[in-house]
Amino acid sequence: MAAAIAWRNWSGTVSARPARVERPGSVEELSDAVRRAVGAGLRVKAAGSGHSFTGVAVTDGVLLRMDALDAPVRIDGRSGLVTVEAGMPLHRLNSVLAAHGLAMTNLGDIDRQTVSGAISTGTHGTGARSGALAAQVRALELVLADGSVVRCSAEERPELFAAARVGLGALGVIASVTLQCEPAFVLHAAEGPMRLPDVLGGLDELLADNEHFEFYWFPHTDLALTKRNNRLPAGERPRPLGRARAWFDDELLSNTLFEAVCRLGSAVPAVIPRLNALSGRALSARSYSQESHRVFVSPRRVVFREMEYAVPREAVTEVVRAIHDWVADSGERIVFPVEVRFAPADDIWLSTAHRRDTAYVAVHQYHRLPYERYFRAVAAIADAVGGRPHWGKLHWLDAEALRGRYPRFDDFRAVRDRVDPAGVFANPYLDRVLGPVGTRGVSGG
Ligand SMILES: Cc1cc2nc3c(=O)[nH]c(=O)nc-3n(C[C@H](O)[C@H](O)[C@H](O)COP(=O)(O)OP(=O)(O)OC[C@H]3O[C@@H](n4cnc5c(N)ncnc54)[C@H](O)[C@@H]3O)c2cc1C
Repeated sequence: MAAAIAWRNWSGTVSARPARVERPGSVEELSDAVRRAVGAGLRVKAAGSGHSFTGVAVTDGVLLRMDALDAPVRIDGRSGLVTVEAGMPLHRLNSVLAAHGLAMTNLGDIDRQTVSGAISTGTHGTGARSGALAAQVRALELVLADGSVVRCSAEERPELFAAARVGLGALGVIASVTLQCEPAFVLHAAEGPMRLPDVLGGLDELLADNEHFEFYWFPHTDLALTKRNNRLPAGERPRPLGRARAWFDDELLSNTLFEAVCRLGSAVPAVIPRLNALSGRALSARSYSQESHRVFVSPRRVVFREMEYAVPREAVTEVVRAIHDWVADSGERIVFPVEVRFAPADDIWLSTAHRRDTAYVAVHQYHRLPYERYFRAVAAIADAVGGRPHWGKLHWLDAEALRGRYPRFDDFRAVRDRVDPAGVFANPYLDRVLGPVGTRGVSGG
């Protein structure tokens, strides 16, 4: 008889029927769980909070729930180096940091992920000069396939560190993460509509002038909502939105009403272009300032499917224009805005921003609507410029295609072959995107 479904991801795209579920509460228990699984001939996968859209966290072996490993380990206010257990969710990390006068340099759109789940797939926010969460990692403690506990950093096992910061859960189970944080800071947020051609035409200045710039383009319109977040000078008083305005914008407009818009659009797709024009105008200009983590993240309650490609920064205008033209010609009706963000080049082997300044183009579809035709069309546009799909979001690429997009792909696979020769941490998604363990030669490696 097949095992019961014991785990499902946030968007409902994948589920897992593991042979058993374990919930280690210490590094010793974690190492013991890995040893026992291997002894029983089972594969192992740590699950974060299930916010990946792909099967990256799925296993038929032992599923490790990491929520009992969620405590702070060491906080050094002076250096800003903070070590936390791997299962700590980002929202708690942010509170712990704030209580010590510290903050993350950059964050993504939400804070529901675990710190290790977020870094493992390359979770990022936006900022031409500040990188993904993994770029803020200074050391990792990992349980390897033989149950041993090892540390890695730029000085200690540097190859493992370069691979494991965005490790896709393929190299071992992260037990703790050391992050370089900085003194807490306040962000000034300025949001407002612009015409898409003006955004694309003025991108260089918008990126140069703002620490964190992003925009949302509403398909079937020429409207974009722009967001610019910049630090307030130390000592300046934050001016948050009033409670009523924050609730109106972030809960009512962005969630409750948007859910209604999505449902209406699903029932009567022909009205979507008009709904998008209304949505683009409803999100009017606003500005406020608040602690950085409150500005970076927002509640996301409307369930969707997502694909996101990292494209070379210099190709983003061409990519967005091509998507615009495809939407106009295709007859598809797209209710979700297209989100465009930025990151600087980094040195992490499987980071989507590896060695190139990057723009992220994310497409979403309401969970009750088909997404495949739209996403495949956008994937083809992004593939044509050497785009790299987000490891946690939907895509169709395999190891052969991805190998050509990451200069250190084979180095990653060599480290994996060394630390996990039997494929204890493998699963079908990893077999597809990395190739099965020990098969580097098969695809030409
Ligand atoms: C609403 C929503 C908003 C999002 N916003 C953003 C965004 O702004 N920017 C962005 O880049 N992405 C975003 N994402 C994607 C999301 O950040 C990533 O998919 C992230 O990996 C999810 O983290 P998680 O804790 O849910 O991990 P899971 O999805 O559960 O797992 C992800 C991977 O991490 C591995 N893993 C988890 N814990 C460990 C561990 N202890 N050791 C080793 N491996 C481990 C898993 O095995 C798996 O391979 C968003 C997703 C959703 C649903």
